[in-house]
This record gives sequence, structure tokens and C-alpha cells, in this order.
Amino acid sequence: MHRDHDGAGDRIAGAARAGLDRRRWLRLAGGALAGGWAAGCSTAGAARWAWSAPARARVTAALVSPDRVIRVVAGLRPYRPEGFVVRAESFADKLLVHNYGHGGGGVSLSWGTAEMAADLAGDGGDGEAAVIGAGAVGLATARLLQRRGRAVTIYARDLPPNTTSDIAGAQWSPTSVSDSLDGPFGIRFERASRLAHRHFQNLVGPDYGVRWIDNYFLSDSPMRVPDYQSRIRDLYPEWEDLEADQHPFPTRYARRVATMFIEPPRYLRALLRDFRIAGGRVVVGEIADPRQLAALPEPVVVNCTGLGARALFGDRSMVAVKGQLVVLRPQPGVDYLTVGGGRFSTEGSQYMFPRDDGILLGGTFERGVETPEPDQAQTERILRDHCMFFHAMEDKRRAVNP
Ligand SMILES: Cc1cc2nc3c(=O)[nH]c(=O)nc-3n(C[C@H](O)[C@H](O)[C@H](O)COP(=O)(O)OP(=O)(O)OC[C@H]3O[C@@H](n4cnc5c(N)ncnc54)[C@H](O)[C@@H]3O)c2cc1C
Repeated sequence: MHRDHDGAGDRIAGAARAGLDRRRWLRLAGGALAGGWAAGCSTAGAARWAWSAPARARVTAALVSPDRVIRVVAGLRPYRPEGFVVRAESFADKLLVHNYGHGGGGVSLSWGTAEMAADLAGDGGDGEAAVIGAGAVGLATARLLQRRGRAVTIYARDLPPNTTSDIAGAQWSPTSVSDSLDGPFGIRFERASRLAHRHFQNLVGPDYGVRWIDNYFLSDSPMRVPDYQSRIRDLYPEWEDLEADQHPFPTRYARRVATMFIEPPRYLRALLRDFRIAGGRVVVGEIADPRQLAALPEPVVVNCTGLGARALFGDRSMVAVKGQLVVLRPQPGVDYLTVGGGRFSTEGSQYMFPRDDGILLGGTFERGVETPEPDQAQTERILRDHCMFFHAMEDKRRAVNP
């Protein structure tokens, strides 16, 4: 499975050094839960990072401490080892188009597979269409069908802000989408990625909560280029690999690229607004049985139910992959993403995404775990790893700029 956010190599190095890191962590956190956490882990007063080479790498450390936590969330990624499904079939007297199973990259890919699904739905004229699901995939699909002239009704059990798509980071990066990109799926993956990337560029700005941002992929071992990225490397502009003395992070290597970054709460709200302005109808409720679809008035139905497709259409190949995030209060001035943490990543994935509604600290990637409730041990691990990481970043800054 492509899990760039996981930094598996780093985890091994991290485990080897875990003894040292844990001792340091305990010292830093000193009396942690008795209030020492905040004192030990906050990098309060962190000066703006003033790295001189390259000059543009001016980054502020995130302030990490338990007293800055505003919520902890978890969601189940709709993962299909063979990759997403976009295909059409006849169902009762309808055309049923499937568009589900996007794993860890569903926000990123949404407009791409929506375009492919809309192609399968055919020209609309003034025909009607139903979209089942109101996550990133369903909303993008519904908007494209509207643009192609269809009158669209969304049927969904949950609306934003209560979908998995609301929990997503969401870095524009179609990662963790399938076990392999070999064969025909790789071609479809690449097409969906390119279509989606182009669509998102039209949405950049505060209205949709989409912006360009620097990403730093971090590791203590030399970084390879994951397959998913090598296929679409041109979609990651300003790509540069940096050595320890060229970047401000406490890992040996850093890869800087630019990506778009999507704020799902604002983005999904804006899509729903656009959908309604364009005359779209929303019906809230669960479709418990495919036979209910046969009773819908629309001749074309697009299934965008994410993980829900497993029960609704019996796709047993789908597996939940749990992801958990710890959200800190917003910290204006932190305006870059980190992915990976080298030896500071003791297990699971490590990433920091700074959104308007909070600093997201990730994360987990637990295949087959079906419980959407956050896990306290993971919360502590995520906080501890990031605390250590950003402290070490401050130490490095002080060493360079005493
Ligand atoms: C912690 C975490 C971090 C992530 N980070 C990123 C990231 O950085 N970038 C990225 O691109 N992706 C990311 N993802 C993945 C992304 O969230 C998913 O791939 C995406 O949300 C899938 O979108 P969807 O619309 O298919 O599903 P969902 O958002 O789950 O929407 C499914 C819709 O279908 C409805 N539905 C389901 N079953 C039924 C039914 N039987 N009847 C009626 N309605 C039904 C639901 O109510 C909902 O409206 C992340 C996920 C997690 C958990």
C-alpha cells in the first residue's frame, strides 16, 4: 500500500532510537499531566524561524501541548486494495454509475473521478439524475452533472459537516489509494489525478478554502519517490530535496514541494451552497437497500457512498482504514505542512496540517479498524511525537541563530 504519510522507514529508525527519545520526552513533559505538559511541550515564544539557506524557508514552529487541544476526531477511509470504482451498469430500468472507494485520497481525486462518472452518465440534456452521498465525491459529481445540464437530487444519510470528507486533512495528494498502481488502474489513477488537480486550481481562494502551500516531507533516511508521486510528479511544483543544513527541521532530509491544500469544512459548505444555487435538491435519509434505488424517479443514479458502498452494494473488497487527528487551536503564522518526522515518529504516521479551524496533528492509518471513536493512547502518542519534533526544531533554530 502506498502510505507516504506513514514514513515506514522512519518508524524503524524511530523505534531504534525510541529509548533515547522517550527519555527526552519524559524530561520535556516533566510532570506532564499535572500541568507540566503545557510548560514542557509548548514552544511558547517561538521566534519566527529565520533560516538563511534557502531564504524562503521561514517557518514558525507549531505550539504543541495538551492544553491547546480543541478536539480529537477519527474517520474511516473507504479503502479498496484494487483502487476506486468508476463504472456503469444497468439496474432495474436505470443507469447506475458507481464512483466510490477512494481510500486516503478521496478529496484530492474527487473532481477527477466525478468527471469520469459524469462521462459514463452521458449527456444530460434536461434529464434528471440522483447522486447518493454528499461527501467530497458526491458533491463534485453532483456539480458536474448540473454543469452538464442535469437536474440533480442528492440523497444522503449525512451532510457536511458530518461526512468522512469533513475529517480529511486535506492535502491535495492522492496517496494511499490502492495497494498497487500497476496495470490499468494506474492509468485511471493518473487520469483522475490530473483532472482533479486542474479542477481544484479553479477553486483556489478563500471562498472555497483552497490554497497553495509548501509541504515538507521529512525523513532521517534518503527519500525515495513513491509510485503515486512519480506518475504525477509535475503536479508537485517547486520540488527540491534538501540536506539538514538547508532546512529548519530536525530530520536529516526534507523534500519541499508545493501542493494545494483544502479546508474541508469551508470547501464542502461552499459546494453544497453552489449545488443549491444551481437548483439542486437534497433529501436526507439512508438508502438501506438497493431496491430503494429502483423506486427513485431519476433515470440515472450515481453511487458516491464511500465506505457505505460495502453494505449497500455488497462490495466486500472494501476495508475501513481508520485515521485519527488531534486538533490544536488555530495558530496564525504556521503556514506549511509537514509529513513524516524521522526518528520522532515512534509509530503510525506523523503530519501537521495548519487549517483555519485548527492545527491538525496526524495521525493513524489502521487497516481493518472499524471503530470511529478516537483512541486515547493514539492521542497521547500523536501529541508526544509532535511535541518532541517541534521542540527539536526550536533547538535547531537556537543552535543556528543563538
Ligand atoms: C484522518 C483522515 C485524513 C485524510 N486526509 C486526506 C487528505 O489529506 N487528502 C485527501 O484527499 N483525502 C484524505 N482523506 C480521505 C478522504 O477523507 C476520503 O477519501 C473521502 O472523504 C471519501 O469521500 P467520499 O465522498 O467517497 O465519502 P464520504 O465523505 O464518507 O461521503 C459518503 C456519503 O455517502 C453517504 N452514504 C453512505 N452510505 C449511504 C447510504 N446507504 N444511504 C445514503 N447515504 C449514504 C454518507 O452519508 C455521505 O454523505 C483522509 C481521511 C481521514 C479519515
